[in-house]
Amino acid sequence: MTTTATTALTHIANLVTNDPSLGDGTPLGLIRDAAVVIDGDRVVWTGESSKAPATDNAVDAGGRAVVPGFVDSHSHLVFAGDRTAEFNARMSGRPYSAGGIRTTVAATRAASDDELSANVARYLDEALRQGTTTFETKSGYGLTVEDEARALRIAARHTDEVTFLGAHIVSPDYTDDPAGYVDLVTGPMLDACAPHARWIDVFCERGAFDEDQARTILTAGLAKGLHPRVHANQLGHGPGVRLAVELDAASADHCTHLDDADLDALGQGSTVATLLPGAEFSTRAAWPDARRLLGAGATVALSTDCNPGSSFTSSMPFCVALAVRDMGMTPDEAVWSATAGGAAALRRTDIGRITPGARADLVLLDAPSHVHLAYRPGVPLIRAVWRAGERVV
Ligand SMILES: [Zn+2]
Repeated sequence: MTTTATTALTHIANLVTNDPSLGDGTPLGLIRDAAVVIDGDRVVWTGESSKAPATDNAVDAGGRAVVPGFVDSHSHLVFAGDRTAEFNARMSGRPYSAGGIRTTVAATRAASDDELSANVARYLDEALRQGTTTFETKSGYGLTVEDEARALRIAARHTDEVTFLGAHIVSPDYTDDPAGYVDLVTGPMLDACAPHARWIDVFCERGAFDEDQARTILTAGLAKGLHPRVHANQLGHGPGVRLAVELDAASADHCTHLDDADLDALGQGSTVATLLPGAEFSTRAAWPDARRLLGAGATVALSTDCNPGSSFTSSMPFCVALAVRDMGMTPDEAVWSATAGGAAALRRTDIGRITPGARADLVLLDAPSHVHLAYRPGVPLIRAVWRAGERVV
C-alpha cells in the first residue's frame, strides 16, 4: 500500500466542529446527522451524512456524538512519588501550601530516567483513554540544571508541547538565597533546558516568585526563544495575570483571584485564561468565576493541571463537568474550552477542531450529544479515539 485510505465516520448524531461557519452558527459549529472523512492524519471533509463523498472505509457512529480530541494545555507529568498522605491530611482540614512540591522534588530527583518516562507514559495513556489527544507538560520537580534538563528530555519523547518550569518553587538548595536561584534559572539552567522546550513558565505567587523575579525569568526565556505561560492568581490576588498579558504569554493559568483590571487585561489581550478546576476540587478552594471571564471577553481554556499534589486527575471530561456545575459555564462553553480553548492556549490552529485540514483527532462518545460530558459526570463515555487519523482507543 503506497496510497492512504480514506475513512468516513457516518451517522454522527451531533458533531462538534468548533467552526461556526460549518455548522449551526454557534461557536461549537454543531452539525446534526453528520459525517467526517479522514485521509491519512488529516480531516478532509465534514458535513451532513447524506452528502458525504465516497470513501475506502466507513465507520458507523450509530447515532452517537463526536467531539474534537481534548487539548490538555497544562499538566505536570514528569514526577515520581506519591502524595496520598498530604491529600488525606488536607481533606482532614489542613490548607494547601506550595511547600508540598518539595516532597515530589525529592522523589523525582531520586528516580531513574526509565521510572520517570514510564510514569509519563502511564498518565498519557490514562488521559488518552479519556479522550485527550494533545497534552502539554512541564518540568519543575527537578530544580537543578541536570534534573530540569532531564525532565524536559523525557517529556519531549511524549509530546511537542514541553514547558520549562525551573521557577516552580525556589529550590530547597537555595532557601536562603532566592536571588541566587533566579540567577541559576535564567543562566545555566535555561541554557541547558531551552533546546528541549517550547515554553517557559513561572509560578508567580506569594511563597514562590514575585513580580520582578517572574518578569526576569520570563524575559530571559523569551530571549532564548521560549514563549511564556504563567501560573497566575491561584492562591490569592497577585501580579501574575497582568504580567502574563504584558508579556503576551500564551496563557495565564488558574485565574482564580481576579480584580477588574485583570479581567480587562484578559479581555483585551490575546492571553488565554486557563482554568484548572481539578485544583480547586482537590484543595477545596474557591472556584474561579468563568462567567465573569467570559463576560469580559476573555478566551477561556479548561485543563487538568494533572500533578501529584494539588490536582491528581488526568480527566478532561471531569474538568468539563466541574466547569459546568461549579464555575458557571454552559456545557457548550465547557466543551469548547476543553478543545478549541486548549488549542488557543497552545497557539495551535491544527488541533481542537474537526475541520478540513485539521489533524484528525476525534473522540466518539457513548452518548448522543456532547452535553452528556457534563450531564453524566464520572461515567466512562469515551467509546473510541482517533489521533492523527489512527484509531488509538
Ligand atoms: Zn500547574
